[in-house]
Order: sequence, then C-alpha cells, then structure tokens
Amino acid sequence: MTSTKAYAASNAKDPLAPFQIERRELRPHDVHVEILYCGVCHSDIHQARNEWGDSIYPMVPGHEIVGKISKVGKDVKKFKVGDIAGVGVMIDSCRACKNCINLMEQYCVEGMTGTYNTLERDKKTIAQGGYSSQIVTDERYVYSISSKLDLKAVAPLLCAGITTYSPLRYAGVTKGMKVAVIGLGGLGHMGVKFAVSFGAEVTLVSTSLSKQKDAERLGAHKFLLSTDKKQMKNSDSYFDVILNTVSANHDYEKYLNLLDFNGKMLVVGLPSENPKVSPFALLKNRRSITGSMIGGTKETQEMLDYCADKNIVADVEVIPIQQINEAYERMIKNDVRYRFVIDMSSL
Ligand code: NAP
Ligand code: ZN
Ligand code: ZN
Repeated sequence: MTSTKAYAASNAKDPLAPFQIERRELRPHDVHVEILYCGVCHSDIHQARNEWGDSIYPMVPGHEIVGKISKVGKDVKKFKVGDIAGVGVMIDSCRACKNCINLMEQYCVEGMTGTYNTLERDKKTIAQGGYSSQIVTDERYVYSISSKLDLKAVAPLLCAGITTYSPLRYAGVTKGMKVAVIGLGGLGHMGVKFAVSFGAEVTLVSTSLSKQKDAERLGAHKFLLSTDKKQMKNSDSYFDVILNTVSANHDYEKYLNLLDFNGKMLVVGLPSENPKVSPFALLKNRRSITGSMIGGTKETQEMLDYCADKNIVADVEVIPIQQINEAYERMIKNDVRYRFVIDMSSL
C-alpha cells in the first residue's frame, strides 16, 4: 500500500479538508498514475454534499484526472512509465455483460464502478478519487492522452468532455442541425464546442446574460436568455436537439417547448429533485427525452483523439487544492469560467 495525500469530505456539511488514503499494490494490469491535474465537476459537489442521497464517507472526490504513469503492472500492454494518461468517471465494471462486451461499460448491467463514492468490485474497498496525489487503477479504464495538448485543459475532457460528446454523437448531430445547449458551465461549454465542431447551428440557452459574449467566443451562433419569456416564446418549436446540462432543480417543460418535430432533449444534468414534465409538451411535435451517462472506454478514447486532432480543450481556471471549498461555492453561484482544475502540485 502507498500512503497518499488527498482532500476529503467527511460528511455532507463540513468543508473538504486534508486527508490521507492508501493506494493498493500494483496488480498485473494496474498502472500507477502520479496525478498532475484534476477537474472539478458539479457531480463532486452533489456527492460531497449527499445531494443524491447515496454518499459514502470519507469521500475523496475527483474524476477528471490527468497524470503521468510512474509504474506499470507486469501484464500492462497499453502504457509504459512516463506516458501521460487520463482516468475518468469509471474505474471498473463486470466486463462480461453485453454492455461491457460492447465497450459501453458505463451501462454495465451490474452497475459500473465509479472512481469515487462507490464500493469497488470486492464490495468492501471504498473507491477514492482524484483530489489526491496518485491513483492506482486497471489499464482498461485508463486513457492515452496526447502530450501536444495543454494538460490542465485536457483534464475536464475526462468527464465534461465525454458526457457531452457521447449524447451529441448518439443524436447524430451534424451540419445544419439546430442544437440548443442549456447552461454554460463545465459540461455546457464543452457541449457548445463539440456541437459547433460537428457543424450544427448552436444556441446557448442560459440564465446568465453575462455569459453571452463568452458563448459567442466559444463558437455559439445564438444566445437565448431563458429568464426572458418573450425570447423563449420566439424560439418555440425551433430546435432539433437540446442538451440539458443544468445542475440545479428546474422544470423541463419550458425547455421542451423549444423542440421542433421529432426533437430530442438529451438530459445529462442531474439535479437532486425530479423535474416536472407535462405529457402535453411531449405529445406536441412527438418530442422525446433521453438520458445519457458519460461514455464507454472506446468512445472516451475516440473523444480524446478527436480533441487532439481538432485542438479542442476546456477553458479552465487553475486553483490550488486549498481553494476547493471556495470553488464549490462559486460553481453553485454559476460563477465558473468554465471549469476549475486543481493543480495537484499544491497538495
Ligand atoms: P456547472 O459547471 O456548475 O454548470 C451548471 C450550469 O447550469 C450553470 O453554469 C448554469 O448555467 C446552469 N444553471 C444553474 N442553475 C440553473 C437553473 N436554476 N436553471 C437553469 N440553468 C441553471 O456544472 P457541470 O459540472 O457542468 O455539471 C452539470 C450537471 O451535469 C450536474 O448536475 C452534474 O452532476 C451532471 N453530470 C452528469 C453526468 C452524466 O454522466 N450524465 C456527468 C457529469 C456531470 P447558466 O449560468 O448558463 O444558466
Ligand atoms: Zn463529472
Ligand atoms: Zn458489465
């Protein structure tokens, strides 16, 4: 076991604080990653504060991990010491069900093993995440990262990137489609970048007028202020696809009204309370709502390679780990431009 510095939540109320965890000895297929950067996802806040009601403490959050491989197990094939690698939201799954065999392990019938706030497959070890100096995990769930990209800006691709890339691909977003992205946060800003790169006409739907200029800079063609009833009415039945990245409790209905014939709302945001949905808003235009969870191992590597090819990374504000609690408060106030990333050398 290797003693590892970390930051942890010890309950739903208190701020995160320095903590010590143990990382396991290398198994034959394990890699040992010295963590350089870890992005801060809103799911970290939901879970640290038990907003989904399933939190296991003490909890070291963090699932947007980029680091350097420092040791490899004897049967490791994909990596060598010195490689740059990424770990995302999932560190294991049953590997035998139809979804695992199809490399859609996030939909494993037994449930995927998350990077933190989950028991590992032995059903007793608590998985601990990336707000830590190192992680040991199976190479199957570790990704190759091109060293030509800015590594601190790559970290958010491991969750915010794949969580928006996967549903936009699944919905067949392509040239000429009208796509709305709701919420300009970590996921939303990646959603805008991907939808623009796939050739769609992209509109940012936001509660924050102050984000209009940034939306345009990120490539959005239009901006819709969701608190302005007139603007919302004028966009009634306009969009083919809506990517809903909202982290706070909200009703789906006012956004569903924006969908055109056969339009789809792709839900990735995970607020604590169930939203209100009117069947009438669904019947009109034969609209549908589809959920999507991160991406499988194959698609995550595909997304990272796509980003390296197109030079797509996140817009980040780098913080030392000592500012993590302040970063959480700013995210809750929608004051993040557009992903906090922890520089792990501060730990
Ligand atoms: P974030 O950076 O905090 O961004 C969330 C954005 O939601 C805010 O910036 C804000 O954008 C918008 N928003 C906040 N309150 C709102 C309200 N009342 N009504 C409408 N819009 C509101 O969060 P994130 O890290 O992108 O995560 C977003 C959500 O996705 C979280 O719930 C997270 O748990 C979930 N998530 C899901 C998956 C998955 O696999 N499905 C993966 C990762 C994260 P504006 O200021 O532009 O309005
Ligand atoms: Zn996440
Ligand atoms: Zn499985």
